[in-house]
Amino acid sequence: MKKQLFKCAMMVYAAAMMVSCSSDANLSCDVKKIAADVNGVQDSLMLKGTDGSCEVVYAPDWVNVSTHDTVVNYVIAANKDSVPREGCIVVTSGHSQLSIPVEQGVKTSYLLLTDKEVKMAREGDTVRVAVVTDGGKVNIEAFPEIVTALNGSYLTLISKKNEGKQISGEIKLTSGDISEKITVTIEGDVCPTCNSTGYVKCPKCKGQGNTFSMSIQGIIGCKTCGGKGTSTRAGDFGYRNGSGKVPCPTCKGK
Ligand SMILES: [Zn+2]
Ligand SMILES: [Zn+2]
Repeated sequence: MKKQLFKCAMMVYAAAMMVSCSSDANLSCDVKKIAADVNGVQDSLMLKGTDGSCEVVYAPDWVNVSTHDTVVNYVIAANKDSVPREGCIVVTSGHSQLSIPVEQGVKTSYLLLTDKEVKMAREGDTVRVAVVTDGGKVNIEAFPEIVTALNGSYLTLISKKNEGKQISGEIKLTSGDISEKITVTIEGDVCPTCNSTGYVKCPKCKGQGNTFSMSIQGIIGCKTCGGKGTSTRAGDFGYRNGSGKVPCPTCKGK
């Protein structure tokens, strides 16, 4: 890979020497970089600022390039190696030259994390999780209370001081077809009444969701926790069991 980059640099350098006296150096392209996945790709790009035709002076051996007027057609082969690769396509038009970087990833066969459950302190915290993969780029989706940074094989998670109640969320990491999740808990205020679950046992039915009625020889759905109707030996009369839980009176379920 280094060799190829060096080759690219040399090509550009050599061409720069050749055209250094020319002011016609405005060859450009809307595509600033070609990034192919493991399966390869076939596409084309249009050059701007040409003299009406262009020529390819360099391309890596895994990229097949042809030109037509000012259009550059390229075919990137499937990457059978287990390492990502990169290089560049160098084109000229008249006295101008342009180098377009090209890179190709590999198929991810594993994505490993040293931690899948992370607890972060209430005062603000920084946690590092090692991320090991044989794939290319790892995409990270976090949630608003967490800032993430991936440097090499380390994912750093940063949380600010949490003034409110405990926060839970997931961080999703994806590389190719493989994805993994880290469950993050940011410690916060814990409600003494409900232990921050937000609910307490229904006081009316003692968590049963219903109450027994002697008069109908059956049960009555507890209205306090969402139940309704009655159920007797004769049948159900719009009966629904209550949940047995009501919002916490201390924290109001928050
Ligand atoms: Zn109830
Ligand atoms: Zn509570």
